[in-house]
Amino acid sequence: MTETTGGDAASTTARPSDVVDMETLISLCKRRGFIFQSSEIYGGLQGAWDYGPLGVEMKRNVKDAWWRANVRERDDMVGIDAAILMHPEVWRASGHLETFTDPMVDCRNCQSRYRADELTSDVCPNCGQRGQFTEPRMFNLMLRTFLGPVQDDAATVYLRPETAAGIFVNFENVLTTTRRKLPFGVAQIGKSFRNEITPKNFIFRTREFEQMEIEYFCYPEDSARTHEQWISDRMAWYARFGIKSARLRLRPHEQEELSHYSSATSDVEYEFPIGWAELEGIANRGNFDLTQHAKFSGKDLNYYDDERKEHIVPHVIEPSLGVDRCMLAFLADSYDEETDEKGEKRVVLHLHPAIAPIKVAVLPLSRNEKLTPTARDVYARVRSHWMTQYDDAQSIGRRYRRQDEIGTPLCVTVDFQTVEEDQAVTIRERDSMAQVRVPIEGLVDALRERLVDVG
Ligand code: ATP
Repeated sequence: MTETTGGDAASTTARPSDVVDMETLISLCKRRGFIFQSSEIYGGLQGAWDYGPLGVEMKRNVKDAWWRANVRERDDMVGIDAAILMHPEVWRASGHLETFTDPMVDCRNCQSRYRADELTSDVCPNCGQRGQFTEPRMFNLMLRTFLGPVQDDAATVYLRPETAAGIFVNFENVLTTTRRKLPFGVAQIGKSFRNEITPKNFIFRTREFEQMEIEYFCYPEDSARTHEQWISDRMAWYARFGIKSARLRLRPHEQEELSHYSSATSDVEYEFPIGWAELEGIANRGNFDLTQHAKFSGKDLNYYDDERKEHIVPHVIEPSLGVDRCMLAFLADSYDEETDEKGEKRVVLHLHPAIAPIKVAVLPLSRNEKLTPTARDVYARVRSHWMTQYDDAQSIGRRYRRQDEIGTPLCVTVDFQTVEEDQAVTIRERDSMAQVRVPIEGLVDALRERLVDVG
């Protein structure tokens, strides 16, 4: 399975030495059970990845951290979970059928395929031949399938290329059932599909991925201010969950880059192993979507303002983030290689405790039968609060390293002193490697104190 690289990165500057390279990350993810190539035993399927036992935990944590901050902690947001399959007219109204296309070119010499807008010259990056590209052909990125037993055009539907449409078509439903007043927003997390011409760069660009999207409806005159507010809220979210501010930047779109309906869009860019590239888009979409869906569905999609006594088509701000791209940012951001006092390499994921797949590891000093019952008891106590792992294989030093490598913030060690003397255990912190002894009775509280902002 060949993975082409390049093309996605906004900047051509060399990767700074402290950003992990993609191969190292892919290898860690496979070795430790974060992420596997889809259908690997059949040679893989390009543009699709499977999340393993640790990956699925971490991905849930990313989604929970987002949902918590953007829905549960706010009084102006609600959530929905719309179907992936939608009425085909949705995509006519949204413009996706007509314009959700990328220009595709083939190299006549080596048959490699590229997105024309990602090529910087007429030299084929694969074979090096000049001037061998075909004329660009526009290619619609929506994946098609058929509903029902008859595969004719009437039954054609699309796998949604973004989750946002599910929010717009439910605007009226949400409004009437929740009796919301402007401004308010609707959040959704779910799968999206795009038939990307060149899926690449691990989970950065895939054909099946998840999105976390918000449509925040506001008075037209407030949209510019609301856009700015969302930009600062989203940047604060990254800081809260530990993303390094030096690896984040905001890139406002140039006038000519903007869609005709958007008055402003800013990309949150992250310095990925492939260079600076879009992590999240935050767009001011005006009233384009509601107007279009009203036109195509024949339904009034507006808001009656009791005080102003008028119907308003709200404007909308759309922060849109890929779950998988966010996972890649968290993994790359937290990866670190250190050398300890013995000159041995320590690989650490400095993940925020809320994002780390395992919060606590319980480690008996050895497999000695004197330690097992107490260690198992400690494990049971902790497991009912947080995702916890029990590990008694190999030396304690190696077990600490194994937990460091998967980002476990705290290890709890049960030793002979625990069972013979003090009924206390040692908490060892991943980042500082500091150790502190606490009584088993107070362990859960001591762990909670250290697991800051874990939902
Ligand atoms: P690009 O220009 O990179 O193709 P886009 O600007 O079309 O992306 P949006 O439509 O704004 O992307 O999608 C919002 C977010 O969804 C992106 O910022 C990204 O995090 C995520 N995303 C989009 N396409 C993919 C993909 N193919 N694989 C993984 N994540 C994606």
